[in-house]
Amino acid sequence: MQRTIGGAVLELVQGDITLQEVDALFNAANSRLMGGGGVDGAIHRAGGPALLEACRQLAPCPTGEARLTTAGNLKAQYVIHAVGPIYQRDPANDAALLSSAYRSSLELASYHGIRRLAFPSLSTGAYGYPIDEAAPVALSTVITYLQQHPEIELVRFVLFDSRTFDAYQQALASLLKP
Ligand code: ADP
Repeated sequence: MQRTIGGAVLELVQGDITLQEVDALFNAANSRLMGGGGVDGAIHRAGGPALLEACRQLAPCPTGEARLTTAGNLKAQYVIHAVGPIYQRDPANDAALLSSAYRSSLELASYHGIRRLAFPSLSTGAYGYPIDEAAPVALSTVITYLQQHPEIELVRFVLFDSRTFDAYQQALASLLKP
């Protein structure tokens, strides 16, 4: 599924983010930036020790913020490590923190001249954020950003499983409904 937002392409695909050939991959990181399970583990396995060492120098990263590193052995040039919220640890701020993790990541991309980027679904694995709630927050944050930042050419959401892919497709269709 693909839509044009301002001058950019917003794309939803099902797949593995570590295989994407874009300028920057976004990682669903934890505050310690030391790798973990899920997409974080996959990115660190593919990136290798140089990625872990780059992270070590920037940790910790607060929830709702992001940090940029080089990408080690990955095909992308950079990894932007975004720390989404653990669902309901701070219930009044779940959506604000999730939105902030996406927005901070996009701001780092703009600052570093990154034009083509790929996101996983932040916080919806081990961090427990329900996909149906997270998808509209993720997509509306990205859409708002793209409308204001023509420097970004491509945002690709790489969604690992069909349930997540379907939820994002539904959320995008209803956000862009005329
Ligand atoms: P969090 O701790 O932020 O919840 P997780 O990595 O546990 O992060 O999960 C976030 C999402 O990333 C989940 O939907 C999970 O299925 C997905 N995921 C796991 N591995 C990959 C991968 N290689 N590429 C893309 N998405 C992945």
